[in-house]
Amino acid sequence: MTAIARREEQLWSRCAGCASLLYRKRLRRNLDVCPECGEHARLGAPERLRQLVDPGSMRPLSDLLPEADPIDFVDVLPYPHRLTAARASTGLAEAVVCATATIGGHPVALAVMDFRFLGGSLGCAVGELITRTAERALDDRIPLVLVTASGGARMQEGALSLMQMATVSQAIAALREAGLLTVSVLTDPTYGGVAASFATNTDLVLAESGARMGFAGPRVIRQVTGRALPEGFQTADFLLRHGQVDMVVQRRSLRGRLVALLAATRAGRAARAGHPPVPRQEPASRRERLADDDAALARPAGPAAAVAPSPTSGVGQTTAVRDAWDTVRMARHPARPTTLDYLDSVFDGFVELHGDRLGGDCPAIVGGVARLAGRHVMVIGHQKGHTTAELVARNFGMASPAGHRKALRLMRLAARLGLPVVTLVDTPGADPGVSAEEQGQAAAIAENILTLTVLPTPVLAVITGEGGSGGALALAVADRVLMLENAVYSVISPEGCAAILWPDRSAAPQAARALRLTAPDLCRLGVVDEVVSEPSVAAHGDPAETAHRLRAALLANLLPLLDVPPAMLVRLRRQRFRRFGTTRGVNRAGVR
Ligand SMILES: [Zn+2]
Repeated sequence: MTAIARREEQLWSRCAGCASLLYRKRLRRNLDVCPECGEHARLGAPERLRQLVDPGSMRPLSDLLPEADPIDFVDVLPYPHRLTAARASTGLAEAVVCATATIGGHPVALAVMDFRFLGGSLGCAVGELITRTAERALDDRIPLVLVTASGGARMQEGALSLMQMATVSQAIAALREAGLLTVSVLTDPTYGGVAASFATNTDLVLAESGARMGFAGPRVIRQVTGRALPEGFQTADFLLRHGQVDMVVQRRSLRGRLVALLAATRAGRAARAGHPPVPRQEPASRRERLADDDAALARPAGPAAAVAPSPTSGVGQTTAVRDAWDTVRMARHPARPTTLDYLDSVFDGFVELHGDRLGGDCPAIVGGVARLAGRHVMVIGHQKGHTTAELVARNFGMASPAGHRKALRLMRLAARLGLPVVTLVDTPGADPGVSAEEQGQAAAIAENILTLTVLPTPVLAVITGEGGSGGALALAVADRVLMLENAVYSVISPEGCAAILWPDRSAAPQAARALRLTAPDLCRLGVVDEVVSEPSVAAHGDPAETAHRLRAALLANLLPLLDVPPAMLVRLRRQRFRRFGTTRGVNRAGVR
């Protein structure tokens, strides 16, 4: 996988760029950059840390977490076997290494991802470790530096993997609020859920020379569009040209650039505060709290707890008989009510608002003000359609960056006007297209996720049909998350998961079962708070009755939120998404 295709012990390695045979020690002295062609070979996290931090300054942060297999995932191999193999081959506990250190004398907290470990995938443990690193930065009032390398979410942890995008993003938001610098360094490759969260919603985004970053991968885009991709697509220089990164940096200059940025921002902070920055404020209390957390985490997490029936999920029994794959087909049924249908049947007086104010109006996202039982709300949802013409006109409900930015504008507007936000989620995922990537799809999703974690107004999300990965989450970080009985919510489509892990798209029904993407499953995992039952003929069989039930559920969940002060809403929302970092949280949700 790495550009250095041979093993450490060997003296020689072949450059992935120019195929030169290089003496390994010389290559290492050159920071693993080919002296012949400048190709930047991928680095493991320990080597990356060695290159970036001041010698002797590094203090590793604990990577002790309980074993996690939150959804008992099995493809051709059980997930724990894959974890064991990754640990053996890398010597790491997880796909990220976290530490505090100084860089040019400036204290920082760092989280460095390692692509060798299950493709740097973002699982619950990775999310938890990065979140803790961000919290450490907040406690110590020091900048956070993230070095990303990831293929995206960790499919084997299903929607819980998706939740990590929100968990880490809200930790970034807390640093933003505290005026502490966050920097991400994109290294090759950075994709999917990592690209669409903490890789791009930091204050500064640096791309290492040769790094590629995007939400959708080139293979997927090529398959979907059937077109050749532009030269240099998603490379660091492409990202710079399209305004998505602050700079492209050669590896040998990376440390120096970080020092300069840390020095500049530290000077600003000191000037603001009127005195030089002081180190940690409450070292003891924070350490004690972490110790408590660790003690709680050390308790074994039985897989049975994660799938135990939840007493709050009243519909579990009626849907248990339906196979997950049948539910997927139901969720995609062309006659299933759309957001505009619900705006007509559940809400009154919808006034649609258009445009992102940056040059686009995405038809796959509709939004505007409406009334729900006489109360004014901001409604934002994905719009599919019933006919082929409608679906094409709406891009099958796949939002472009303009769509996400329109949603962001309306969310912020709602908060300013004191309107609660209701989102209706029904999308196969974000738009897998060339222009979507050019226009910064990953950053657009990342900003929505971050903004929703701190939006000072009630947010109620409903997964009405398909909740497809980051594109869905961009509208679904909410105080309460409801899900229609035959909707699905998943980190990846069953077809996509099957193609990667089985690897055969015809295994999609098995993948659908393994991913735990149905409403009762997600209710048990705590990803969803309540299942809204559908008529026995399903939503498309009786849209009027479905609308009636949805309206009742919306009111029952929204009215209590209206009495909660905004600051407390945000605090509770943060707690809701913070708990997904650990299996402990899963258990708590499971036995709730
Ligand atoms: Zn080379």
